[in-house]
Amino acid sequence: MTAPIAAEDQKSSCAWATEALARVFAAMDADYERAALAHGFVCRGCDDNCCRTRFYHHTLVEHLYLRQGLSALAAADRGPIAARAAQAAVRMAAEPPEPVMCPLNAQGRCLLYAHRPMICRLHGIPHHLRRPDGRRQAGPGCGDFDRQCGAAAQPLLDRTPLYSALAELERELRRRLGFGAKIRMTIAQMVIEKPALSDGKESDHEIY
Ligand code: SF4
Ligand code: SF4
Repeated sequence: MTAPIAAEDQKSSCAWATEALARVFAAMDADYERAALAHGFVCRGCDDNCCRTRFYHHTLVEHLYLRQGLSALAAADRGPIAARAAQAAVRMAAEPPEPVMCPLNAQGRCLLYAHRPMICRLHGIPHHLRRPDGRRQAGPGCGDFDRQCGAAAQPLLDRTPLYSALAELERELRRRLGFGAKIRMTIAQMVIEKPALSDGKESDHEIY
């Protein structure tokens, strides 16, 4: 697929980027479903629970999108999430780090399911990826995938076009905003912190 960032130049806010990301995510979800179906894999949650894994997220557009979902929640719901995120961020910073449940997981349910980041959408199924230098990289499925389908199952999910689409979208957003900072954030951090855009850019849009 290609990044769906076409003729949106006239929009001054970041809304075009989050709309485009929603389309990229829809493509990811469809590819994931196809691969899961091909393997006969069903995620019903598990004791390992990948929502306890300390994943880092690296794109501004995912950060904006997550906060867009957050800001759409009722204030009464945001308060407990913010409190859990603050606690989680402290515990994740401990040495050695300990597994901490994502602050968006409540009784096994993702409170921002439609706005969850990329890795939450792709985790679990063995995959392969063609890197920019041409090398091919493979990654395993989760433990429950191995139990259900066997560890020797061949990778079916090609993350390459999905990563490429996200990367293209991120490049374009950063270019338009003049944003050059590196991002390496947990979900807890993304809940706590606003994207560090310039003051002028922040006032342009209302999604966080
Ligand atoms: S994707 Fe795998 S590790 Fe994550 S909850 Fe589902 S079965 Fe468990
Ligand atoms: S954002 Fe949702 S799916 Fe991702 S780790 Fe948190 S609770 Fe789990």
